[in-house]
Amino acid sequence: GDFFAVPHATFEILPSAMPTAANIRDDVLANPGFGRYFSDHMAHVRWTADAGWHGHEVRPYGPLTLDPAAAVLHYGQEIFEGIKAYRHADGSVWSFRPEKNAERFRRSARRLALPELSDEDFVGSLKALLAQDQAWVPTPRNEADESSLYLRPFMIASEKFLGVRPAHEVDYYVIASPAGAYFKGGIAPVSIWLSSHYKRAAPGGTGFAKCGGNYAASLAAQKEAEKHGCSQVAFLDAAENKWIEELGGMNLFFVYKDGRLVTPRLTDTILEGVTRDSVLTLGRDEGFIPEERAISIDEWRDGVASGEITEVFACGTAAVITPVGQLISEDDTIQMPDAGNEIAKRLRGKLLDLQYGRAEDKHGWLTRL
Ligand code: PMP
Repeated sequence: GDFFAVPHATFEILPSAMPTAANIRDDVLANPGFGRYFSDHMAHVRWTADAGWHGHEVRPYGPLTLDPAAAVLHYGQEIFEGIKAYRHADGSVWSFRPEKNAERFRRSARRLALPELSDEDFVGSLKALLAQDQAWVPTPRNEADESSLYLRPFMIASEKFLGVRPAHEVDYYVIASPAGAYFKGGIAPVSIWLSSHYKRAAPGGTGFAKCGGNYAASLAAQKEAEKHGCSQVAFLDAAENKWIEELGGMNLFFVYKDGRLVTPRLTDTILEGVTRDSVLTLGRDEGFIPEERAISIDEWRDGVASGEITEVFACGTAAVITPVGQLISEDDTIQMPDAGNEIAKRLRGKLLDLQYGRAEDKHGWLTRL
């Protein structure tokens, strides 16, 4: 067969015998939504306790065969990542800081007692998949078109064994899904639900890891949010019910009148976002004063009341940067000023310009796929 070599491994290419017809693929790319359609192939690497990582391949996208006793189905030993491939105006395809996702994936693996995948294999698997499925990366029609190919690496405990211990057989996959804008309203401010009962993470727990269980545990709060007309949940810390942590799938930033850009400092209950880290750097480039520290719900409420906090925004790979319009809870609502969210928009524009190759990559954040 064919092979795709990356620095530390060679992926065997098993091409799909039934790739999607070009006209059908183009219809999907014109209106992809989020997470609904998938490209023709997936990358796969297997791990066993005896042989380590082996069997690198790119094979047709399709259902997995899992034993009903596979550990992941019972104990949730699973981690994942989320990263996008962007098509630039010259047709080339790039990812944004994939080494950060690779590093976070290793951190998640350690917490879930899964084997660590090397950064070379992680980035190599994205390249190997994209070598087959380049055509699935949408071509943006204009600067407002934020379409991309969302890549979802994940690792599961596939060993057939019902004992509770780290699995001896594990599989790693990457699937790819064309994506349009995450929130239908585009840059319109979103309403956030403040969960007063449910907690996302606890000290010593898995909050800093990107494991499926964290998201399963957030769904009851997400249901509450939707009942109250909100699209995301904001979580407070488990110990004091006082400190702002993050949203179910995004980190939070607070913009102060005096130019400070505050985000909760990293603890083991917060997921370290690649976008968060990039916003801290871009914010500094733009003359803001980044601050990573604890921020309480009272500081949010009082800061908005006094006019000290002028904007709050959420950030993540899927939704880039999205202004928060209001924070709704059982007790009260924090209504953000309707003042245009100019700083969120500016930082969002800076980030998108970099990702889509419209600005000089002076931090070296782009990797060609
Ligand atoms: N927090 C959580 C809980 C998330 O799921 C995500 C999405 N990965 C983020 C923050 C933002 O991370 P990133 O900027 O790397 O997408």
